[in-house]
Amino acid sequence: MLCIGRPHASTATTPIAPAGACTTRPTRVTGVRARDLQSGETSQVELTGLFIYVGLQPNTALVGNLVKLSESGHVPTDNWLKTAREGLYAVGDIRQDSARQAITSAGDGATAAIAAHRYIKEKFR
Ligand SMILES: Cc1cc2nc3c(=O)[nH]c(=O)nc-3n(C[C@H](O)[C@H](O)[C@H](O)COP(=O)(O)OP(=O)(O)OC[C@H]3O[C@@H](n4cnc5c(N)ncnc54)[C@H](O)[C@@H]3O)c2cc1C
Repeated sequence: MLCIGRPHASTATTPIAPAGACTTRPTRVTGVRARDLQSGETSQVELTGLFIYVGLQPNTALVGNLVKLSESGHVPTDNWLKTAREGLYAVGDIRQDSARQAITSAGDGATAAIAAHRYIKEKFR
């Protein structure tokens, strides 16, 4: 989806860099080529910046058969990031109610590590 002022659904985009730009080094984007996937119509939009947004679908297929996921596909946890399955913790963007930021994901990792350590000490002492 292209979003300039308003979202443009079903649009494929290709970033445009200055001619001759080196592909091995970061370069300046000057615009995007947009193609309407329904009509096939193409257009070019000049830009000074480009933010690529990859969406919010959580990659939780791996644990889908281990815990019940929320409607949005996220993993529900308690405050110590324990899931409904004993010994399984969920952190970061896949966790239900996560703020989905780098710093909160890192904090989740620390919280879950402490909880897992406690679990292992209790379970296998
Ligand atoms: C474009 C963009 C801009 C962002 N900007 C900011 C920002 O400015 N500030 C900020 O705080 N946050 C920002 N975020 C959010 C931040 O990147 C995430 O919140 C954070 O990376 C989540 O960390 P995570 O460890 O939960 O997931 P991820 O960083 O997504 O890591 C998950 C890892 O698991 C791997 N993986 C997935 N499935 C499997 C599998 N089956 N087996 C093995 N490995 C697997 C993936 O390859 C990936 O390496 C941004 C995100 C995006 C997409």
